[in-house]
Amino acid sequence: MSDTSTAATGPLGLFGGTFDPIHYGHLRTAFELLQALRLQQVRFLPTGNPPHREQTLADAEQRLEMVRVAVAGQPGFTVDDREVRRSGLSYSVDTLTELRAEFPQRPLCLLLGMDAFLGLPHWHRWRDIFDLAHVVVAHRPGWKAPTQGPLGELMVDRGTGAIRDLHDALAGRIFVHAVTQLEISSTELRQVILGGGDTRYLVPDSVRDLLRQLKCYAPRQ
Ligand code: ATP
Repeated sequence: MSDTSTAATGPLGLFGGTFDPIHYGHLRTAFELLQALRLQQVRFLPTGNPPHREQTLADAEQRLEMVRVAVAGQPGFTVDDREVRRSGLSYSVDTLTELRAEFPQRPLCLLLGMDAFLGLPHWHRWRDIFDLAHVVVAHRPGWKAPTQGPLGELMVDRGTGAIRDLHDALAGRIFVHAVTQLEISSTELRQVILGGGDTRYLVPDSVRDLLRQLKCYAPRQ
């Protein structure tokens, strides 16, 4: 039985990504974190113009629509389109600053896969993120938690194994959580589509239908 006693006031989970396209690795991870951490909700934030990656293949509106159909009907999942609407580069620290102002009393949890967490020191004003939110790291196949360097030190200073700490403070802790390991990536999915393959059971049927309609990764005729 899930404990919903803190759900009304529980932390807000923020799951950013290019979602190019969204897949079950994202969705199952978000769902397990929603339940295990007793989050009030998980907000999916598709990035508009990602600073760290080469250009995405589906445009921002298409990626947003795929996220919308993927989470439709799931209680506790919502979509936030602010990064798609923002012009210029999207930085997580700007998004978190806005959300902190909107939710001054609610703990915020930035949800990251281990690969994304390892890249954190390259993010714009990355240390400021810990003044705005907790960082929750989901284990991802093939990636190990840092034990050295700036992230290793931060794990010692800010790491916690207690979910209570994510509810009691508004920001500042790091929590690593093991989730069901699904070795699915958007890169692999794009290759499947490019090779004429079927994405069934890797993405929700609603996303699969949309992918067929949009043809955003299909080879050019
Ligand atoms: P790409 O293959 O294009 O790099 P991706 O599959 O890693 O894409 P992103 O949209 O870049 O997807 O990821 C958004 C977030 O979801 C990141 O924090 C990433 O670590 C996490 N994530 C992606 N795939 C998985 C997965 N299979 N299991 C757990 N976390 C994942």
